[in-house]
Amino acid sequence: MSKSEVKTSLLDNMIGVGDMVLLEPLSENSFIQNLKNRFDHDEIYTYIGTVVISINPYQSLPIYTADKVEEYRNRNFYELNPHIYALADEAYRSLRDQDKDQCILITGESGAGKTEASKLVMSYVAAVCGKGQEVNKVKEQLLQSNPVLEAFGNAKTVRNDNSSRFGKYMDIEFDFKGDPLGGVISNYLLEKSRVVKQPRGERNFHIFYQLLSGASDDLLKRLKLERDVSKYNYLSLDSAVVSDLDDGANFRIIMDAMKTVCFMDNEVQSVLELVAAVMKLGNIESIDEIIVLVGSFYWTDLKEICELLGIEQIVLERAFSSRTLEAKQEKVSTTLNVAQAYYARDALAKNLYSRLFSWLVTRINESIKVHWLFSKKVMGVLDIYGFEIFENNSFEQFIINYCNEKLQQIFIDLTLHEEQEEYIREGIEWKNIEYFNNAVICDLIENNNKGILAMLDDECLRPGTVTDETFLDKLNTVCAGHHHFESRHCTNSQFLTDHTLPHNCFRIQHYAGKVLYCVEGFVDKNNDLLYRDLSQAMYKARHPLIKLLFPEGDPSKMNLKRPPTAGFQFRASVGTLMKNLQTKNPNYIRCIKPNDKKAARIFTETLVRHQVRYLGLMENVRVRRAGYAFRQLYKPCLERYKMLCQQTWPHWRGPARYNGVEMLLNSLQVPKEEFCYGCSKIFIRNPKTLFALEKKRREC
Ligand code: ADP
Ligand code: MG
Repeated sequence: MSKSEVKTSLLDNMIGVGDMVLLEPLSENSFIQNLKNRFDHDEIYTYIGTVVISINPYQSLPIYTADKVEEYRNRNFYELNPHIYALADEAYRSLRDQDKDQCILITGESGAGKTEASKLVMSYVAAVCGKGQEVNKVKEQLLQSNPVLEAFGNAKTVRNDNSSRFGKYMDIEFDFKGDPLGGVISNYLLEKSRVVKQPRGERNFHIFYQLLSGASDDLLKRLKLERDVSKYNYLSLDSAVVSDLDDGANFRIIMDAMKTVCFMDNEVQSVLELVAAVMKLGNIESIDEIIVLVGSFYWTDLKEICELLGIEQIVLERAFSSRTLEAKQEKVSTTLNVAQAYYARDALAKNLYSRLFSWLVTRINESIKVHWLFSKKVMGVLDIYGFEIFENNSFEQFIINYCNEKLQQIFIDLTLHEEQEEYIREGIEWKNIEYFNNAVICDLIENNNKGILAMLDDECLRPGTVTDETFLDKLNTVCAGHHHFESRHCTNSQFLTDHTLPHNCFRIQHYAGKVLYCVEGFVDKNNDLLYRDLSQAMYKARHPLIKLLFPEGDPSKMNLKRPPTAGFQFRASVGTLMKNLQTKNPNYIRCIKPNDKKAARIFTETLVRHQVRYLGLMENVRVRRAGYAFRQLYKPCLERYKMLCQQTWPHWRGPARYNGVEMLLNSLQVPKEEFCYGCSKIFIRNPKTLFALEKKRREC
């Protein structure tokens, strides 16, 4: 067969260009046009080398069938049409055959398709890895942990009907054969403010609605609940029913999933009792308008909460009406005013729910954890909230965007930086590509002394009157002059003071764009305080689970230091996550949301352009193109392709590089500019060259 006849499926019948590395001419416009062209033909996946871009189709496409799984199984990454399965297959095979731990990093904004992508990767791996009763049980448990966590951690938002309100990282562990053994899940920062209040048009977490809609009459009676959503202050009404969510049916799915993940009946009952208690907390109201005294509550809900949790009513009433302060070893009890009482009630609801969520994760981990200590291989899947730029940005967005800065750092480190470093190591000539390194922004946020989080902690722990304003004052002094920080009142800085900014805000120039944060609530959310009277009341409960959730309420542990702040905890867990990711070989899925309407077939160019920019995709292509699309150590390369050349086949004995690979490529008449000899690897510029080799190999 002549060279011109060598075709591969990636080149046959391709809509647009499947790998942006091959796009000619390359510009932001042509990049977006190519995405659009492919999207219009239901081709939602496009590569940048080994990175997969995925555009949310907002419709179910027939591309995830069992046949598709078979099609992609054990095939080389570039052989077939771009697909998330190709990435999953590549990652799984490198893990199984080359013993390299992998991580799949999925990023993109809310609604871009991250969670769906993570599920597709997991289901693909589940489909192609080992079989057998034990293995299937492990797979089932790993997969079924998803619906449980989604019920408790996802909610309908304006951007996504099933928006994950927590970050999730799951390590799936395999044995040496590549059979799954179990896993470990880590969760990050559940958006607990949603428990007590939801933005317009959004809902509380799914489980509340699912329980009311799907529980039997008998169960509701046991939980002292009424079926009617409108009876509960914490549940938003305007969007209680979401057209494509069947809460009732989902409730039964969740109950089954909990069984699969080995929750005992009494544990499920305990969990639901806490969910019911949270719902009812919102209905506790004070009859008085100024101060709250024991007995001044609408009492039905309070009484029922106490029954559900096994707490003496008087204990909870006291905890809601007064607060014990300790001054110089003396205890002083002060009566709460009504606003403080509502604050205490909401704080309890948020804490109860978020601790319940963390407990669920711990409990699932117990079920799926690997009991044997033999060497394992690990595939991590990270599905974490993407960059958020809202009209009003608060502490939550600040934390989420910080996390995305860190992920971008990993991306730069492992992809852009590492790519350049490898060329230098291999002695290949390299033209430097300019890219923006966001380390300076990470430092602005996380620096131990002068970082924004450290200063927030300083404020929160400082004696005296601390408010969001004093925190902002501090930022204005310390961060003034930092090129990525702006506020209205920066001291010591002329040029980064923007008089158009509101008084109570600061602005950060993130890698993905400028975000204006309003400091209101920062101190409170970071403190995350629960009055000790309430944690003690919870600890006194007879309910087995709730006691476990409030260990600091144990009177014998009264002298413990205060728990770390929310910001501190998050910084620490992001730090651990980054360390974990750095030990693994990264695989990227960059998700893009095509429109704001959650609608199929609409591609809003401006929206996509924005995402292409802040995901740094153009830089990514440039680095790839400047270099070589493929590289392989000489020996495996020769092993794989030596059959294509009479001189090297069957028993080549000389050094792999010189004359071995060289002889091979020369005999195949691969053009000289197509490859380059590194110190240990052969570098091939164009994927097409590799396709041709693969194709010849199959035909041999
Ligand atoms: P994210 O996790 O990024 O916020 P999701 O993964 O929850 O977004 O996706 C939002 C919605 O978009 C999903 O509920 C689903 O309806 C749709 N969607 C996402 N990816 C796909 C896909 N590959 N095929 C079909 N629909 C999808
Ligand atoms: Mg999600």
